[in-house]
Amino acid sequence: MEHDLYDLLGVSRTASLAEIKKAYRELARKFHPDANPNDAAAEKKFKDIAMAYEILSDDEKRSQYDQFGAVGSAGSPFQGAGGISDIFEAFFGGQSPFGSSGFRGQQRNSGEDVEITLKITLEEVVNGGEAEFTLELALQCETCTGSGSQNGESELCGQCDGHGQLQQVRQSILGQIMSTTVCPSCQGFGTLIIDPCSSCGGSGVEKAEKSFSIEVPKGVDSGITQRLSGMGPAGPRGGASGDIHVRYVVEQHSRFSRNGENLIEQLWIPVTSAALGAEIEYETFDGMQKLKIPAGSRTGDKFRYSGLGVPRLQRRGRGDLIVEIVIDTPQNLSKASKRLMIELAEELGETIEEKPKRSRKSKQNE
Ligand SMILES: [Zn+2]
Ligand SMILES: [Zn+2]
Repeated sequence: MEHDLYDLLGVSRTASLAEIKKAYRELARKFHPDANPNDAAAEKKFKDIAMAYEILSDDEKRSQYDQFGAVGSAGSPFQGAGGISDIFEAFFGGQSPFGSSGFRGQQRNSGEDVEITLKITLEEVVNGGEAEFTLELALQCETCTGSGSQNGESELCGQCDGHGQLQQVRQSILGQIMSTTVCPSCQGFGTLIIDPCSSCGGSGVEKAEKSFSIEVPKGVDSGITQRLSGMGPAGPRGGASGDIHVRYVVEQHSRFSRNGENLIEQLWIPVTSAALGAEIEYETFDGMQKLKIPAGSRTGDKFRYSGLGVPRLQRRGRGDLIVEIVIDTPQNLSKASKRLMIELAEELGETIEEKPKRSRKSKQNE
């Protein structure tokens, strides 16, 4: 998106959320594809304003955009849990205000969008990586290179005179109502194929498997969807390809959990290390680090590795890695250990409520 998002919505950079909402609502009605049949410019405008609204109506995305301009969120292929159609639904209660032909009704010639779920590891979120997946989807027919025609010839559709749609005028109590339907002869293409391609039967597309390899965006989180523009199913008869929406699911990690941009590990250490202090080799996604546990550490004490957390999605910087100490109480003590513990308790002046009886002690410990 090369335009300024504020210009797109016709609001000032200091516009309130209410002003942004109002501007979007008016523009969305004006440029909605159903109100502008077969108008590619209006359709593009509609998508642009929807994207502008999606960013500017979200405090966090808006401040990112203000900060980084076109380099940051503008034209971002990422969406949160909701997409443009969700915004649209939020406004119009799930019903298109422009009749029943629907949001994508006009994109007759474009391939459909598909959504896939991609499982990735937390390590990939932190360090990035390549993710691969295979889809069976409509691809351009190689025999006719998508035209659907054996010899490349087609003729103007007689029923709609090449318009691809038929208009009907009805009388109602509100006056004349004009409605538009897709031409049944040419399915909206405006032309008829004279000699359909023998491989694809005239559709211009064939189902086939296709492998994809994409870069995992650093900092991505479960529920975030990435749009791979134009990488989806090919449109019939040479139409543009749809998009693939990749919805990420981050698998649970055995050691680290994620809290926003921070990584957290609860690290169990022996009571002796906590009491005496220790310096241990600590493995992170960024390799081995020294972890110095001071003498006298307690459960809940935290140690922080600044900048070793989760990278910020499409922004600079990373969160922190926080190590939270949990003291591992020794269990199943041997006779000798138990004696030392009692000795220690006595040395520290601690009272032991239940002193083991000498006569039974040996049996208890076997
Ligand atoms: Zn073909
Ligand atoms: Zn027709």
